[in-house]
Amino acid sequence: MIDAEVIVGLEVHCQLDTKSKLFCGCSTDYRDSGPNTHVCPICLGLPGTMPALNRKAIEYAMKVAKALNCSVIEESEFARKNYFYPDLDKAFQITQYDKPLASGGHVEIEGDDCRERKIRLTRIHVEEDPGRLVHMGNAERGRYSLVDYNRAGIPLIEIVSEPDLRSPKEARKFLNKLRATLEYLGVFDSEKEGSLRVDANISLKGSERVEIKNISSYKGVEKALTFEVTRQRNLIRRGLPVERETRHYLEARGITQSARSKEMENDYRYFPEPDLRPLRVQSWVSGIVLPELPDARRERFVAQYSCSLNHARTLTGELRMANFFEGVVTGERKDLCGLAATWIADTLAGELNYRDMGIDAVDPHRFGSLLRLLKSGTITDKSGVEVLRVMLDEQMKGEKIETPEDIVGRLNLAKTAGDDSALMKSVAEVLRDNQKAVEDYRAGKNGALNFLVGQVMKKTRGRADPGELNRMVVSALKGSE
Ligand SMILES: [Zn+2]
Repeated sequence: MIDAEVIVGLEVHCQLDTKSKLFCGCSTDYRDSGPNTHVCPICLGLPGTMPALNRKAIEYAMKVAKALNCSVIEESEFARKNYFYPDLDKAFQITQYDKPLASGGHVEIEGDDCRERKIRLTRIHVEEDPGRLVHMGNAERGRYSLVDYNRAGIPLIEIVSEPDLRSPKEARKFLNKLRATLEYLGVFDSEKEGSLRVDANISLKGSERVEIKNISSYKGVEKALTFEVTRQRNLIRRGLPVERETRHYLEARGITQSARSKEMENDYRYFPEPDLRPLRVQSWVSGIVLPELPDARRERFVAQYSCSLNHARTLTGELRMANFFEGVVTGERKDLCGLAATWIADTLAGELNYRDMGIDAVDPHRFGSLLRLLKSGTITDKSGVEVLRVMLDEQMKGEKIETPEDIVGRLNLAKTAGDDSALMKSVAEVLRDNQKAVEDYRAGKNGALNFLVGQVMKKTRGRADPGELNRMVVSALKGSE
């Protein structure tokens, strides 16, 4: 029972990247604006206003439905979901209920067993985003909330999966795949704050199901689910029941916490939205031309650039990274694709992540020049990382931008040549200062050689080519016998 199978289903809310809101002409570009500056009587829900459906939002949702292999329903319908809460001042949300835009479909992921798996989808429906509450003060003093309606009426799609996911890691992969697909379609921007929110259902086979509400980051979903698996397993181990309930994820503390259960037991009294006609858009499906999607691009990267499957997966897993890769290996830099795949997927991705930087900040030409220096053997891999770090730091601080060649020159990082007298001198010094290791080497201990080479590397700050250095130290050891 303790090792019971983990069962996870997700409800993913994504903001569609349209220019205007779902039912009015207000701009969706609200993120750097003051509160309540992108509002009108419609999205404020004032009495007497009528919603007018944004055709683009429906087109975007249809693209998603087609890309995820869903069937678009012949006649879908908007509904009012009634609830009273300050983030929704008209006291109902326009959403879809028993007649959603699309049903079925699937998302392919690489499962925990490394096999491709199809995660089935239940449905996709369209709805409006509510406003946003900003909580002020603290629990003791001056606690109050402000409401910002800039977000009210932003078009959302809710993508609901079947409970096919078997671990928190699979849930993360599912979300990554979904994000990549939506970005390739050009209907979603994952870098916009709050553009994705997830509710997760999780249970251990044979126990009750728990819903975790409103997780607002990709990493948060995996963390919240991992916490829940541990919590539920611990309950079962102690012979206690897992209660069917709704929990909130507290991002800062990395835990989930029970929501007061009454609060969530809403009867939404859904009924058809009388101000919007039923949607008959099934006939649009055949006219939708899908762009190259992540799986196709991954296969193309393997075929066209001889990328390893893993590198191709990483590179195409994000639209921006895939575009960056192709920007680097274009034209006369075609011969760099092997190096580019390794350096972007393994090194650059990590350095960007560490700095919380987007790949858009990196210039593909400048990065290509760095790869050229590596390819020509001008610098070692270790120095390459050092140059890359300087490049990224300059970019981040908005300082003067040097070429990789300039950085190599300024920091004196060019690879030392075999006949470099400074290098010979370093080797001699290391042998002189480490007599014990020299004797060990002569006594047949091969580890001593690695130690000596390491000492010279340290002295030369990684500028020497490791293979060449190895040969030099061996020949110096022979020479001094
Ligand atoms: Zn408006």
